Amino acid sequence: MKKTVCIQFRMPWHKTKIYFSNDLVGRISPLIKIEGNYAYLELEETNPIVSFVLNQHRVINGCSLIRLIRKTIIIEEEDITVNKTYVFLPGFGQEKEIPLQHFLSYYYNFEPQCEVCGRFKWIQRKNITLRKKVGFDIEEGIGGEVIIKEWLKKYLEENRFEGIAFRKISGESSVWQLCPTGQAFVNKDAWNIIKKSPCKICERPRVVALDESNRVSMFSLPHDKPRIENTPTLYLKKFCYDIALTDIEFGTVGCIPDGDTKLLASDITCRTSKPLWVVSGRLAKSLFQENVTGFALEPAEIY
Ligand SMILES: [Zn+2]
Repeated sequence: MKKTVCIQFRMPWHKTKIYFSNDLVGRISPLIKIEGNYAYLELEETNPIVSFVLNQHRVINGCSLIRLIRKTIIIEEEDITVNKTYVFLPGFGQEKEIPLQHFLSYYYNFEPQCEVCGRFKWIQRKNITLRKKVGFDIEEGIGGEVIIKEWLKKYLEENRFEGIAFRKISGESSVWQLCPTGQAFVNKDAWNIIKKSPCKICERPRVVALDESNRVSMFSLPHDKPRIENTPTLYLKKFCYDIALTDIEFGTVGCIPDGDTKLLASDITCRTSKPLWVVSGRLAKSLFQENVTGFALEPAEIY
């Protein structure tokens, strides 16, 4: 299993580098990447530069030089155990979700569960229509739809993977929407599930996140510690298919965080909370063996 570490600095690199040894600066400088306002490094965890940077890291005038340390697990084919379970990220590597021809309310009925916090059950009532060509074998639509190429649909059917149905995509004959028939049941009491901002009416949390970080906020003071994030494990109670969606959604429910204003289904233009996809080891292994593009895996455990 490969692990990568992303180290993001708080200040631009030319202001940061004066606090590191010349030898280290010489080795880091060619590796520095810039995203927005921030300089960062992305390395394999075993690269000695990682420990050199962390050892020389300091707090200057109450601010830590490093803003964020993100450790990511990369699950590869040889890591897969056939009888285990994995979180499945459809469309991984795709720049943006595929836009649909119409607003989401054209394709979905939103059955209100609590209109105060904007909690709706999404029920698809029409086949989706795409506004862009599908590139990878697996891509994700803007409403969380999994879109797959025709050859992969045939492969999944021929190999009798369980828990899968397909839905036509209008106007397209070479791609299909993959729809799960069952659910994966999350262990909602798992230590790494954060629940925040309970709705005043239904009392359910508006924010649900999987979080194995040190819980340091990058946005509120003091800035004396870096935030450290690790790829979280999804703990499940029950999963008995080859692919399914979790029974709970992750993200922020609705559009208005404090839940004071009534939200209507017609106001929903994007999906801010989604269930997670889960796959069996058998399916995960097959996707690697067939060189399927457009997915990644994260850890999950059943207990
Ligand atoms: Zn509510």
